Amino acid sequence: MIDTHAHLYLCKQALPDLVLLAREAGVSALVNVATDLASSEIVLSQSQAFPGYVFPTAGIHPCTEFVPDEMDALREFVDKNRASIVAIGEIGLDLYRGTASLADQVSRFEAQLLMAREYDLPVIIHSRQSDEAMLGVILKYPDIRKVFHCFSSGPDFLAAVQHDNCCFSFTGHITYDNPHVIAAMKQMRLSQIMLETDCPYLTPKSRRGQANHSGNIPLVAEAMAEHLGVSLDVIQSNTTETARRFFGLS
Ligand SMILES: [Zn+2]
Repeated sequence: MIDTHAHLYLCKQALPDLVLLAREAGVSALVNVATDLASSEIVLSQSQAFPGYVFPTAGIHPCTEFVPDEMDALREFVDKNRASIVAIGEIGLDLYRGTASLADQVSRFEAQLLMAREYDLPVIIHSRQSDEAMLGVILKYPDIRKVFHCFSSGPDFLAAVQHDNCCFSFTGHITYDNPHVIAAMKQMRLSQIMLETDCPYLTPKSRRGQANHSGNIPLVAEAMAEHLGVSLDVIQSNTTETARRFFGLS
């Protein structure tokens, strides 16, 4: 199994302990996702401590504060570290928690989509209460490989966005009662689905109240297998293969 979305630098435990928890749970790789310029540097250095196991991204989340010349700085960082980075992310739109105007969020998002295209990298998309605005942007970039992380929309959004370059990842949120998310998941091809924890957030229901970590990925896989009515083996092998292909992991 691959945890395609972890924020190791936000977890309280030491990095070696987090990696051990993941390994013990059968996680074969994890993607350590940045949310701003500073964390892009941190996830890179954390990945260097666990080469071939922890993979870094670079990107600016829609809820982070705007910094002057941030896109120039990000481009410079990506350019310098293109060989290590496996995705641009997480990027997107957040009309629930984001404080920037929609126009500002869209321009920041599109600048990073163009960067992904230029450097031939996939993108990790964060989308919260922004279905309509998200479609307005994302349908302009059908060529870019993208994963909608912690997919929280329903079948209508899925139908509008569905094409070959789209993947969808699921967290511990599928261990809670989310009927519209589950309904959408049932309409996806198995080859488009990936596992993630989004740790330290989104702890699965049975561990509610504890900080999340990559060692909880089997709980997400089990919930997915149950919802889709397939074996755990099928979920594990398919999601791993999809994640390896999507992020180009060796
Ligand atoms: Zn995240």
